Amino acid sequence: MERMRSAVARLRRWGQLKADAAQNAPTTSTTADAADFLHDVLARFPYTDEARRWLSSAIAFEVHDLTSTRGGGFWIPDQNKVQLFTAQYEAAIHELAHAWWHTRRIAQEDALIAATIALSQETDPRYARTAHLAYGYIHGIPEQHWAGMLVERNDWEMYAGLASGMMADLRLVPPYVRTFYDGMYALLPDDAPSPAATAPHG
Ligand SMILES: [Zn+2]
Repeated sequence: MERMRSAVARLRRWGQLKADAAQNAPTTSTTADAADFLHDVLARFPYTDEARRWLSSAIAFEVHDLTSTRGGGFWIPDQNKVQLFTAQYEAAIHELAHAWWHTRRIAQEDALIAATIALSQETDPRYARTAHLAYGYIHGIPEQHWAGMLVERNDWEMYAGLASGMMADLRLVPPYVRTFYDGMYALLPDDAPSPAATAPHG
């Protein structure tokens, strides 16, 4: 739930910051320290070699405060840049997923939405956590006055939300969802430890 709330907050922040970014148009590029953090994220979590190459060369990556892990950030498509507020793994995984999906989503939007609907109805207990997230995306969260993502057919936020919801671990989603993440994440063996559980922070 906390994760979902922060996802909603991030969504709202993103809209605000997108407006700010359009006005200020910062032009900073990836610093050495930010690149170190990106390298840590890409090494610690099961990104494919192709995704490691692409995410560390095709987009700019910026972190405002590398000393904090409070989270937050956004993807700025017109600057081709991921900008994080802090060095939090969850936010990095989320915003990098936005960057990855940005062009790859073309003609996949409806299929991803259909898979998210199926996940919201999933009864296999192995996928309970992501099924719960998907349920919120599809049906909204009335007590938070949130209508969810289906009303806007927001496939990009479903994609990034599930990416950070599973913390890049494809074992937490069923095969019909994995297929959308296959190029970005590698499937870990059943007995491999959870990368998120062994990370020093969230
Ligand atoms: Zn997002």
